[in-house]
Amino acid sequence: MRRAPDEAMTEKRLPELRDVQRDDEGRALLLSMTFPELKRWVQDDLGEKPFRAKQLWKWLYIRMVSDFDEMTDLSKSVRAKLKDAARIDVLTLEDVYTSADGTRKLTWTTLAGATIESVLIPTEDRNTLCISSQVGCAMNCQFCLTARMGLRGQLTTAEIVNQVVGTRRLYEEEQHLSNIVFMGMGEPFHNPDNVIPATRILIHRDGLNFSKRKVTVSTSGLVPEIERFGAESEAQLAVSLNATTDEVRDWIMPINRRYNLDRLLGALRSYPYRKHERVTFEYVMLDGVNDSDDDLCRLVRIASSIPCKVNLIPFNPHPGTEFRPTPMPRVREFRERLQGKHIHATIRVTRGDDEMAACGQLGKPGPKQPKRMRPPESFVEAVRAEDTP
Ligand code: SAH
Repeated sequence: MRRAPDEAMTEKRLPELRDVQRDDEGRALLLSMTFPELKRWVQDDLGEKPFRAKQLWKWLYIRMVSDFDEMTDLSKSVRAKLKDAARIDVLTLEDVYTSADGTRKLTWTTLAGATIESVLIPTEDRNTLCISSQVGCAMNCQFCLTARMGLRGQLTTAEIVNQVVGTRRLYEEEQHLSNIVFMGMGEPFHNPDNVIPATRILIHRDGLNFSKRKVTVSTSGLVPEIERFGAESEAQLAVSLNATTDEVRDWIMPINRRYNLDRLLGALRSYPYRKHERVTFEYVMLDGVNDSDDDLCRLVRIASSIPCKVNLIPFNPHPGTEFRPTPMPRVREFRERLQGKHIHATIRVTRGDDEMAACGQLGKPGPKQPKRMRPPESFVEAVRAEDTP
Protein backbone atom coordinates (compact mmCIF):
# COMPACT_ATOMS: atom_id res chain seq x y z
CA MET A 1 0.00 0.00 0.00
CA ARG A 2 1.29 3.48 -0.86
CA ARG A 3 1.51 6.02 1.86
CA ALA A 4 2.49 9.62 2.39
CA PRO A 5 6.27 9.86 2.77
CA ASP A 6 6.32 11.46 6.22
CA GLU A 7 3.38 9.98 8.03
CA ALA A 8 1.36 6.82 7.68
CA MET A 9 -1.72 8.92 7.01
CA THR A 10 -3.49 8.98 3.73
CA GLU A 11 -7.15 9.52 4.52
CA LYS A 12 -6.99 11.98 7.38
CA ARG A 13 -6.15 15.64 7.42
CA LEU A 14 -2.61 16.50 8.48
CA PRO A 15 -2.83 18.98 11.35
CA GLU A 16 -0.68 22.08 11.58
CA LEU A 17 2.83 21.64 12.95
CA ARG A 18 2.76 22.76 16.59
CA ASP A 19 5.32 24.90 18.41
CA VAL A 20 8.17 22.92 19.95
CA GLN A 21 7.44 21.89 23.56
CA ARG A 22 10.38 22.52 25.90
CA ASP A 23 11.48 21.81 29.47
CA ASP A 24 12.33 24.58 31.96
CA GLU A 25 15.90 24.79 30.63
CA GLY A 26 14.60 25.33 27.11
CA ARG A 27 15.47 21.86 25.82
CA ALA A 28 13.14 20.55 23.14
CA LEU A 29 11.03 17.55 24.16
CA LEU A 30 11.69 14.98 21.46
CA LEU A 31 8.90 12.63 22.59
CA SER A 32 6.43 15.46 22.00
CA MET A 33 7.11 15.71 18.28
CA THR A 34 5.24 13.98 15.49
CA PHE A 35 7.54 12.90 12.68
CA PRO A 36 6.94 16.03 10.53
CA GLU A 37 7.52 18.19 13.63
CA LEU A 38 10.78 16.38 14.38
CA LYS A 39 11.92 16.84 10.80
CA ARG A 40 11.26 20.56 10.92
CA TRP A 41 13.07 20.85 14.28
CA VAL A 42 16.09 18.91 13.02
CA GLN A 43 16.38 21.24 10.04
CA ASP A 44 15.44 24.59 11.59
CA ASP A 45 16.73 24.32 15.17
CA LEU A 46 19.46 21.74 14.99
CA GLY A 47 20.68 22.80 11.55
CA GLU A 48 21.00 19.20 10.36
CA LYS A 49 19.90 17.38 7.22
CA PRO A 50 16.37 15.91 7.26
CA PHE A 51 17.63 12.29 7.17
CA ARG A 52 18.85 12.82 10.75
CA ALA A 53 15.18 12.94 11.77
CA LYS A 54 14.70 9.39 10.52
CA GLN A 55 17.78 8.22 12.43
CA LEU A 56 16.61 9.93 15.60
CA TRP A 57 13.06 8.57 15.26
CA LYS A 58 14.43 5.02 15.12
CA TRP A 59 16.60 5.53 18.19
CA LEU A 60 13.63 6.95 20.08
CA TYR A 61 10.96 4.44 19.08
CA ILE A 62 12.62 1.23 17.84
CA ARG A 63 15.76 1.01 19.97
CA MET A 64 14.05 3.18 22.60
CA VAL A 65 17.29 4.58 24.01
CA SER A 66 17.18 7.04 26.89
CA ASP A 67 20.63 8.51 26.33
CA PHE A 68 22.03 10.37 23.31
CA ASP A 69 25.38 8.59 23.73
CA GLU A 70 23.73 5.33 22.69
CA MET A 71 22.92 6.80 19.26
CA THR A 72 26.04 5.31 17.75
CA ASP A 73 25.45 6.21 14.11
CA LEU A 74 25.44 9.90 14.97
CA SER A 75 28.77 11.70 15.12
CA LYS A 76 30.08 12.93 18.47
CA SER A 77 29.42 16.51 17.46
CA VAL A 78 25.79 15.83 16.53
CA ARG A 79 25.29 13.98 19.82
CA ALA A 80 26.79 16.92 21.70
CA LYS A 81 24.45 19.30 19.91
CA LEU A 82 21.49 17.09 20.75
CA LYS A 83 22.41 16.88 24.43
CA ASP A 84 22.48 20.62 24.55
CA ALA A 85 19.28 21.27 22.65
CA ALA A 86 16.99 18.35 23.43
CA ARG A 87 15.76 15.90 26.02
CA ILE A 88 14.35 12.38 25.73
CA ASP A 89 12.74 11.23 29.00
CA VAL A 90 10.33 13.47 30.85
CA LEU A 91 8.99 10.89 33.32
CA THR A 92 10.73 9.09 36.18
CA LEU A 93 9.38 5.72 37.22
CA GLU A 94 8.28 5.99 40.84
CA ASP A 95 6.77 2.60 41.69
CA VAL A 96 5.29 -0.56 40.24
CA TYR A 97 2.44 -2.29 42.07
CA THR A 98 1.62 -5.78 40.85
CA SER A 99 -1.84 -7.25 41.50
CA ALA A 100 -2.54 -10.91 42.19
CA ASP A 101 -3.90 -11.19 38.62
CA GLY A 102 -0.67 -9.86 37.06
CA THR A 103 -1.95 -6.36 36.36
CA ARG A 104 0.71 -3.75 37.08
CA LYS A 105 0.09 -0.18 38.12
CA LEU A 106 3.07 2.02 37.22
CA THR A 107 3.39 5.41 38.85
CA TRP A 108 5.56 8.11 37.29
CA THR A 109 6.75 11.55 38.37
CA THR A 110 6.52 14.36 35.82
CA LEU A 111 9.11 17.15 35.47
CA ALA A 112 6.71 19.39 37.40
CA GLY A 113 6.66 16.87 40.26
CA ALA A 114 3.15 15.48 39.74
CA THR A 115 2.40 11.76 40.01
CA ILE A 116 0.61 10.05 37.14
CA GLU A 117 -0.37 6.43 36.61
CA SER A 118 -0.45 3.85 33.81
CA VAL A 119 -1.81 0.32 34.07
CA LEU A 120 -0.38 -2.70 32.20
CA ILE A 121 -3.04 -5.37 31.76
CA PRO A 122 -1.78 -8.71 30.45
CA THR A 123 -4.30 -11.21 29.04
CA GLU A 124 -3.84 -14.35 26.99
CA ASP A 125 -4.10 -12.74 23.60
CA ARG A 126 -2.86 -9.20 24.22
CA ASN A 127 -1.08 -6.80 26.56
CA THR A 128 -2.87 -3.51 27.00
CA LEU A 129 -1.44 -0.34 28.49
CA CYS A 130 -3.97 2.07 29.92
CA ILE A 131 -2.43 5.56 29.92
CA SER A 132 -3.22 8.93 31.49
CA SER A 133 -3.80 12.14 29.56
CA GLN A 134 -4.11 14.62 32.44
CA VAL A 135 -3.14 14.97 36.09
CA GLY A 136 -6.56 14.50 37.70
CA CYS A 137 -9.67 15.38 35.72
CA ALA A 138 -12.19 18.21 35.48
CA MET A 139 -15.21 16.21 34.34
CA ASN A 140 -16.49 15.35 37.83
CA CYS A 141 -18.11 12.04 36.90
CA GLN A 142 -19.75 11.07 40.16
CA PHE A 143 -18.68 7.40 40.20
CA CYS A 144 -14.98 7.95 39.35
CA LEU A 145 -12.16 8.30 41.88
CA THR A 146 -9.90 10.40 39.61
CA ALA A 147 -12.71 12.98 39.48
CA ARG A 148 -12.27 13.53 43.23
CA MET A 149 -8.82 15.06 42.52
CA GLY A 150 -10.14 17.80 40.28
CA LEU A 151 -7.90 18.89 37.41
CA ARG A 152 -4.28 19.48 38.47
CA GLY A 153 -2.65 19.79 35.05
CA GLN A 154 -2.40 18.80 31.40
CA LEU A 155 0.16 16.25 30.23
CA THR A 156 2.43 17.17 27.34
CA THR A 157 2.56 14.86 24.34
CA ALA A 158 5.98 13.73 25.62
CA GLU A 159 4.50 12.75 28.99
CA ILE A 160 1.80 10.73 27.24
CA VAL A 161 4.20 9.00 24.83
CA ASN A 162 6.80 8.45 27.57
CA GLN A 163 4.33 6.22 29.47
CA VAL A 164 4.33 3.87 26.48
CA VAL A 165 8.07 4.03 25.71
CA GLY A 166 8.96 3.66 29.41
CA THR A 167 6.71 0.63 29.82
CA ARG A 168 8.01 -0.99 26.62
CA ARG A 169 11.57 -0.58 27.83
CA LEU A 170 10.69 -2.34 31.09
CA TYR A 171 8.55 -5.25 29.92
CA GLU A 172 8.93 -5.68 26.17
CA GLU A 173 10.79 -8.99 26.40
CA GLU A 174 8.20 -10.76 28.55
CA GLN A 175 5.06 -8.84 27.60
CA HIS A 176 4.92 -7.30 24.14
CA LEU A 177 2.61 -4.28 24.32
CA SER A 178 -0.04 -4.62 21.63
CA ASN A 179 -2.87 -2.29 22.69
CA ILE A 180 -3.05 1.23 24.08
CA VAL A 181 -6.15 2.69 25.70
CA PHE A 182 -6.48 6.32 26.81
CA MET A 183 -8.56 5.31 29.82
CA GLY A 184 -6.26 6.22 32.68
CA MET A 185 -6.44 9.50 34.56
CA GLY A 186 -8.01 12.40 32.73
CA GLU A 187 -10.36 13.30 29.92
CA PRO A 188 -8.30 12.93 26.71
CA PHE A 189 -10.45 15.36 24.73
CA HIS A 190 -9.94 18.03 27.36
CA ASN A 191 -6.30 17.89 26.20
CA PRO A 192 -6.66 17.26 22.46
CA ASP A 193 -3.60 19.28 21.37
CA ASN A 194 -1.42 16.77 23.19
CA VAL A 195 -3.50 13.62 22.84
CA ILE A 196 -4.15 13.67 19.08
CA PRO A 197 -0.44 14.07 18.16
CA ALA A 198 0.38 11.32 20.69
CA THR A 199 -1.93 8.92 18.81
CA ARG A 200 -0.12 9.78 15.58
CA ILE A 201 3.26 9.05 17.18
CA LEU A 202 2.01 5.70 18.55
CA ILE A 203 0.78 4.43 15.19
CA HIS A 204 3.69 5.72 13.08
CA ARG A 205 4.90 2.74 11.08
CA ASP A 206 8.60 3.48 11.27
CA GLY A 207 8.43 3.85 15.04
CA LEU A 208 6.27 2.34 17.77
CA ASN A 209 4.02 0.99 15.02
CA PHE A 210 0.87 0.25 17.00
CA SER A 211 -2.02 -0.88 14.84
CA LYS A 212 -4.50 1.97 14.46
CA ARG A 213 -7.20 -0.50 15.47
CA LYS A 214 -5.40 -1.12 18.74
CA VAL A 215 -5.10 2.46 19.97
CA THR A 216 -8.33 3.62 21.58
CA VAL A 217 -9.17 7.03 22.99
CA SER A 218 -12.06 7.10 25.45
CA THR A 219 -14.08 10.24 26.09
CA SER A 220 -16.85 11.28 28.42
CA GLY A 221 -18.43 12.99 25.40
CA LEU A 222 -16.85 16.30 24.35
CA VAL A 223 -18.64 16.75 21.04
CA PRO A 224 -16.41 19.28 19.18
CA GLU A 225 -13.32 17.25 20.02
CA ILE A 226 -14.99 14.02 18.87
CA GLU A 227 -15.43 15.74 15.50
CA ARG A 228 -11.84 16.96 15.49
CA PHE A 229 -10.55 13.51 16.43
CA GLY A 230 -12.52 11.98 13.57
CA ALA A 231 -10.79 14.38 11.18
CA GLU A 232 -7.25 14.21 12.57
CA SER A 233 -6.58 10.81 14.13
CA GLU A 234 -6.75 7.27 12.85
CA ALA A 235 -7.07 5.79 16.34
CA GLN A 236 -10.32 4.26 17.59
CA LEU A 237 -12.99 6.10 19.52
CA ALA A 238 -14.71 4.95 22.71
CA VAL A 239 -17.45 6.91 24.46
CA SER A 240 -18.44 6.52 28.09
CA LEU A 241 -22.20 6.49 27.72
CA ASN A 242 -23.10 5.26 31.21
CA ALA A 243 -26.72 6.44 31.09
CA THR A 244 -29.65 6.38 28.67
CA THR A 245 -31.52 9.52 29.77
CA ASP A 246 -30.39 13.12 30.13
CA GLU A 247 -31.81 13.14 33.65
CA VAL A 248 -29.40 10.45 34.88
CA ARG A 249 -26.48 11.46 32.68
CA ASP A 250 -26.77 15.10 33.84
CA TRP A 251 -26.33 13.77 37.37
CA ILE A 252 -23.59 11.15 37.04
CA MET A 253 -21.66 12.83 34.17
CA PRO A 254 -22.09 16.62 34.44
CA ILE A 255 -20.49 17.10 30.98
CA ASN A 256 -23.93 16.01 29.71
CA ARG A 257 -25.27 19.43 30.72
CA ARG A 258 -23.01 20.92 28.04
CA TYR A 259 -23.35 18.18 25.39
CA ASN A 260 -26.55 16.24 25.97
CA LEU A 261 -27.37 12.78 24.62
CA ASP A 262 -28.98 14.21 21.50
CA ARG A 263 -25.84 16.11 20.54
CA LEU A 264 -23.51 13.30 21.54
CA LEU A 265 -25.40 10.63 19.62
CA GLY A 266 -25.81 13.02 16.69
CA ALA A 267 -22.01 13.44 16.52
CA LEU A 268 -21.62 9.65 16.60
CA ARG A 269 -24.13 9.19 13.80
CA SER A 270 -22.20 11.54 11.54
CA TYR A 271 -18.73 10.32 12.64
CA PRO A 272 -16.44 9.43 9.69
CA TYR A 273 -16.25 5.66 10.35
CA ARG A 274 -13.86 3.79 8.14
CA LYS A 275 -14.64 0.33 6.81
CA HIS A 276 -15.50 -2.04 9.70
CA GLU A 277 -14.87 0.74 12.22
CA ARG A 278 -17.26 1.15 15.16
CA VAL A 279 -17.37 3.28 18.27
CA THR A 280 -17.19 1.45 21.60
CA PHE A 281 -19.82 2.47 24.13
CA GLU A 282 -18.64 1.96 27.68
CA TYR A 283 -21.42 1.47 30.16
CA VAL A 284 -20.46 1.35 33.86
CA MET A 285 -23.26 -0.55 35.58
CA LEU A 286 -24.52 1.17 38.72
CA ASP A 287 -27.07 -0.58 40.89
CA GLY A 288 -30.47 1.11 40.77
CA VAL A 289 -29.12 4.02 38.71
CA ASN A 290 -28.73 2.88 35.07
CA ASP A 291 -29.62 -0.82 35.06
CA SER A 292 -33.44 -0.92 34.79
CA ASP A 293 -35.46 -2.65 32.06
CA ASP A 294 -36.23 0.78 30.63
CA ASP A 295 -32.50 1.53 30.50
CA LEU A 296 -31.96 -1.70 28.64
CA CYS A 297 -34.65 -0.83 26.07
CA ARG A 298 -33.16 2.62 25.53
CA LEU A 299 -29.64 1.20 25.32
CA VAL A 300 -30.80 -1.22 22.63
CA ARG A 301 -32.40 1.65 20.73
CA ILE A 302 -29.26 3.81 20.96
CA ALA A 303 -26.90 0.98 20.03
CA SER A 304 -29.04 -0.06 17.06
CA SER A 305 -28.81 3.40 15.52
CA ILE A 306 -25.01 3.73 15.54
CA PRO A 307 -22.18 1.46 14.30
CA CYS A 308 -20.99 0.36 17.74
CA LYS A 309 -20.13 -2.28 20.26
CA VAL A 310 -21.14 -2.07 23.90
CA ASN A 311 -18.71 -2.80 26.71
CA LEU A 312 -20.51 -3.29 30.03
CA ILE A 313 -18.21 -2.37 32.91
CA PRO A 314 -18.82 -3.74 36.40
CA PHE A 315 -18.51 -0.80 38.78
CA ASN A 316 -15.30 -0.84 40.83
CA PRO A 317 -16.02 0.66 44.23
CA HIS A 318 -13.54 2.96 45.96
CA PRO A 319 -13.47 4.63 49.37
CA GLY A 320 -16.19 7.22 49.83
CA THR A 321 -18.36 6.31 46.85
CA GLU A 322 -22.12 6.22 47.27
CA PHE A 323 -22.61 3.92 44.26
CA ARG A 324 -22.94 0.16 44.32
CA PRO A 325 -22.17 -2.33 41.57
CA THR A 326 -25.03 -3.93 39.66
CA PRO A 327 -25.12 -7.64 40.66
CA MET A 328 -23.27 -9.78 38.08
CA PRO A 329 -26.31 -11.86 37.02
CA ARG A 330 -28.01 -8.61 35.99
CA VAL A 331 -24.89 -7.46 34.10
CA ARG A 332 -24.92 -10.76 32.22
CA GLU A 333 -28.62 -10.35 31.51
CA PHE A 334 -27.89 -6.95 29.95
CA ARG A 335 -25.24 -8.53 27.75
CA GLU A 336 -27.50 -11.36 26.66
CA ARG A 337 -30.45 -9.10 25.91
CA LEU A 338 -28.19 -6.81 23.84
CA GLN A 339 -26.73 -9.77 21.99
CA GLY A 340 -30.28 -11.02 21.38
CA LYS A 341 -30.84 -7.79 19.46
CA HIS A 342 -27.66 -8.44 17.41
CA ILE A 343 -25.64 -5.83 19.24
CA HIS A 344 -22.01 -6.72 19.88
CA ALA A 345 -21.83 -6.67 23.69
CA THR A 346 -19.10 -7.72 26.12
CA ILE A 347 -18.48 -7.49 29.85
CA ARG A 348 -15.16 -6.00 30.88
CA VAL A 349 -13.32 -8.28 33.27
CA THR A 350 -12.25 -6.32 36.31
CA ARG A 351 -8.46 -6.33 36.65
CA GLY A 352 -6.07 -4.98 39.23
CA ASP A 353 -8.70 -4.00 41.78
CA ASP A 354 -6.63 -5.26 44.74
CA GLU A 355 -3.97 -2.64 43.94
CA MET A 356 -6.43 0.15 43.10
CA ALA A 357 -5.48 -0.17 39.43
CA ALA A 358 -8.96 -0.87 38.04
CA CYS A 359 -11.16 1.51 36.02
CA GLY A 360 -12.05 4.60 38.00
CA GLN A 361 -9.62 3.78 40.81
CA LEU A 362 -6.62 5.86 39.71
CA GLY A 363 -5.32 8.91 41.54
CA LYS A 364 -5.43 10.27 45.06
CA PRO A 365 -8.17 12.74 45.97
CA GLY A 366 -6.80 15.81 47.73
CA PRO A 367 -8.32 17.85 50.56
CA LYS A 368 -10.21 20.15 48.18
CA GLN A 369 -12.61 18.09 46.12
CA PRO A 370 -15.11 19.03 43.44
CA LYS A 371 -18.67 19.19 44.66
CA ARG A 372 -20.94 16.18 44.49
CA MET A 373 -23.98 16.51 42.28
CA ARG A 374 -27.44 16.07 43.76
CA PRO A 375 -29.26 13.07 42.28
CA PRO A 376 -32.63 13.72 40.63
CA GLU A 377 -35.56 13.38 43.07
CA SER A 378 -36.60 10.04 41.62
CA PHE A 379 -33.18 8.57 42.44
CA VAL A 380 -32.62 9.75 45.97
CA GLU A 381 -33.62 6.28 47.15
CA ALA A 382 -31.00 4.63 44.99
CA VAL A 383 -28.01 6.09 46.79
CA ARG A 384 -27.14 6.15 50.42
CA ALA A 385 -28.54 9.43 51.69
CA GLU A 386 -25.68 10.15 54.13
CA ASP A 387 -23.15 10.34 51.30
CA THR A 388 -24.90 13.04 49.36
CA PRO A 389 -25.01 16.70 50.35
N1 SAH B 1 -12.32 10.34 30.75
C1 SAH B 1 -12.40 9.26 29.83
C2 SAH B 1 -11.42 8.13 30.09
C3 SAH B 1 -11.14 7.69 31.52
S1 SAH B 1 -12.25 6.64 32.37
C4 SAH B 1 -13.81 8.71 29.77
O1 SAH B 1 -14.65 9.16 30.54
O2 SAH B 1 -14.09 7.89 28.91
C5 SAH B 1 -12.29 5.10 31.56
C6 SAH B 1 -13.62 4.36 31.83
O3 SAH B 1 -13.75 3.97 33.20
C7 SAH B 1 -14.83 5.23 31.53
O4 SAH B 1 -15.71 4.52 30.70
C8 SAH B 1 -15.48 5.44 32.89
O5 SAH B 1 -16.87 5.59 32.76
C9 SAH B 1 -15.07 4.19 33.63
N2 SAH B 1 -15.08 4.31 35.09
C10 SAH B 1 -14.84 5.40 35.84
N3 SAH B 1 -14.94 5.09 37.15
C11 SAH B 1 -15.24 3.79 37.23
C12 SAH B 1 -15.43 2.87 38.31
N4 SAH B 1 -15.31 3.26 39.58
N5 SAH B 1 -15.71 1.58 38.02
C13 SAH B 1 -15.78 1.17 36.73
N6 SAH B 1 -15.57 1.98 35.67
C14 SAH B 1 -15.32 3.27 35.92
